[in-house]
Amino acid sequence: MYDILVVGGGTAGLTAAIYARRAGRTVLVLESTGFGGQITASHLVENYPGIPAVSGLDYSDALLKQAKDLGAETKFAQVTGAEQIPGGFRLTAGKKEFEGKALILATGAKHRTLGLPREEELVGRGVSYCAVCDGAFFKDKDTAVAGGGDSALQSALFLSGVAKSVALIHRRDTFRAQAAYVEAAKTKANITFVMDSNVTALEGENTLNAITLTDKSGGSKTIPVEGLFIEVGQIPDNGPFAQLAELDGGGYFAAGEDCRTKTPGVFVAGDCRSKELRQLTTAAADGSVAATAACQWLDER
Ligand code: NAP
Repeated sequence: MYDILVVGGGTAGLTAAIYARRAGRTVLVLESTGFGGQITASHLVENYPGIPAVSGLDYSDALLKQAKDLGAETKFAQVTGAEQIPGGFRLTAGKKEFEGKALILATGAKHRTLGLPREEELVGRGVSYCAVCDGAFFKDKDTAVAGGGDSALQSALFLSGVAKSVALIHRRDTFRAQAAYVEAAKTKANITFVMDSNVTALEGENTLNAITLTDKSGGSKTIPVEGLFIEVGQIPDNGPFAQLAELDGGGYFAAGEDCRTKTPGVFVAGDCRSKELRQLTTAAADGSVAATAACQWLDER
């Protein structure tokens, strides 16, 4: 039985592992897709204090190495169930089971889809949720980005250096993204802003070749694009843990800054938690708070 099981190998989970290892606790971090979490898809991170500029991949590689060098164990596993057992908690991942005395849930969030007909079918055939991962396939091609947050603006900026054109499609007339990203996008000659509009249809037989846009007044037009990058936010995936940690209306863990849940010994950290600002800094802060609280709880029980 590990001292602490961490579910999620993003910034929050790996920071928790670093803090727990430095407190001398045995730690296993379970991750379903890729260590590093969502930031691996950011081509440039420029707002982490003390690091003026770093790629999301370099940052997360360094973070994972730091956790492992300190002795944190890591495993790929999709956790599908969690229960309380005498002396701790048991996680189920398919046929595998893992046991720990305390639990830190740092499950992050996954990409929200537009829910369009054929969206799923066209993933990898023109539709993508990660410009950094797939942008290179669209060199000198016409592309579009849907969304108005930091991720959408970052994707548009990244694509502007690769693709022939980028249509940035946002459903409102003002952006949610940081002004610095919006200003940077305005300086790119190959980014076109399409405001007050939604992507309402995906065209093309086997691969995407056009999208239909519908504006506020109901008018629609079809524009040729070979790549559509969907960056319309994230949704949490905390269902398997709802017995242990209360969820808010949006499906995020309803926990405060202390990262504690209704179950003693269960802590939550990062984007999976109800909060105002989902950033690397706040994920790292949560990871350290949750691990410190878990270590204290282990000492005192
Ligand atoms: P976000 O901030 O939630 O923005 C999502 C965007 O998608 C919003 O503009 C939203 O429109 C739009 N949207 C949502 N559902 C839609 C739909 N069904 N159809 C069309 N548009 C839709 O998500 P995010 O950009 O992925 O960012 C998530 C968090 O990570 C944020 O806290 C962000 O600051 C952070 N982040 C930070 C950086 C960085 O460099 N520091 C980089 C990436 C992300 P409305 O504005 O109308 O709601």
